[in-house]
Amino acid sequence: MAEGILRRDPLNKIWVVFAPEKVNTIVAGSSENETRFDMDPFIPGLEYATGPDILRSSDPLYSAGGWSSRVFPAKNPVLRVENDKNSRGHGLYDSMSRLGAHEVVVETPKSGVSADQLSVEEIADAVKIIFDRIADLRKDIRFRYISVTKSRGAAAGGMINHNYSEIKAFPFVPTFVRMKIDNCIEYYRLHERCLLCDMLDQEICERKRIVCENDRFMAFCPYASRFPFEIMVLPKKHGRILSENPKAAISDFARILKTVLAKLRTGLNSPAYNMVFNYLPVNSGSEAEAESLAYHWHLEIIPRISVITADNLENGIFVNPTLPEDAAGFLRNIME
Ligand SMILES: [Zn+2]
Repeated sequence: MAEGILRRDPLNKIWVVFAPEKVNTIVAGSSENETRFDMDPFIPGLEYATGPDILRSSDPLYSAGGWSSRVFPAKNPVLRVENDKNSRGHGLYDSMSRLGAHEVVVETPKSGVSADQLSVEEIADAVKIIFDRIADLRKDIRFRYISVTKSRGAAAGGMINHNYSEIKAFPFVPTFVRMKIDNCIEYYRLHERCLLCDMLDQEICERKRIVCENDRFMAFCPYASRFPFEIMVLPKKHGRILSENPKAAISDFARILKTVLAKLRTGLNSPAYNMVFNYLPVNSGSEAEAESLAYHWHLEIIPRISVITADNLENGIFVNPTLPEDAAGFLRNIME
């Protein structure tokens, strides 16, 4: 019987069971190119079908059909920008209207390509348009959190074989985000240091779980990874925005994304994956300073190669057959 181990994730405060014999939980054939719909409405020439753009980037070097990346309101939005909050109590229960925003970012005019097959400049162009939208949405004081997520492949919830992300602005801070930030604030009160900065230092010191790095970012498989080959991309310098030299920082971010995604595609045979940007809440009032001292923005990439179980969803218990040291070692050795 393989030995395995339990490990605790200090960021989410969850325990993860590493059980190498559970390798049968890995799903073969998860593919980023397998999507729910065959038709691609995000190609140039079909812009009329998605409605008017909120923002578009049209760098002539990378554009086709007059744009290189574009943002428009989601056709069937989860949340709607025009609503009032209309917060109410019904005895024990609270409700509010669907106030918020829901936008789609089409990251390239190219259909059916993997993100790492785009150039660093093309990826940076899409990253910049996402940061520009966040900067604009945070000005609306009704919003408390802006989520940016990407789903590639049907197993990850991807609908179309085209690189796109979704931006949602919420009138509340989502519970899991709140818990993670509160854990960091508690850590800061005890140590007067950011937990994520300390994680970065320890990973650099141990060098067991690093996948790749550049001047401004490090990609590693977290010590208590919930999922096989889960990767966190962390800025090496603490800060809430890419403030010092945004162009160089965005370029470094695009470069490390391209490397990580190329390694995943080559090493795991183009798996479906989710990408989640983890930012600070916005419009936090008197809490803003504590949050920005204690928390550090980062990106999570989760290949969808294992089944989601009731234990994951209901009990927050994760069983992972792959140790992060093994996952990182495997990915490190892949030449992208
Ligand atoms: Zn930090």
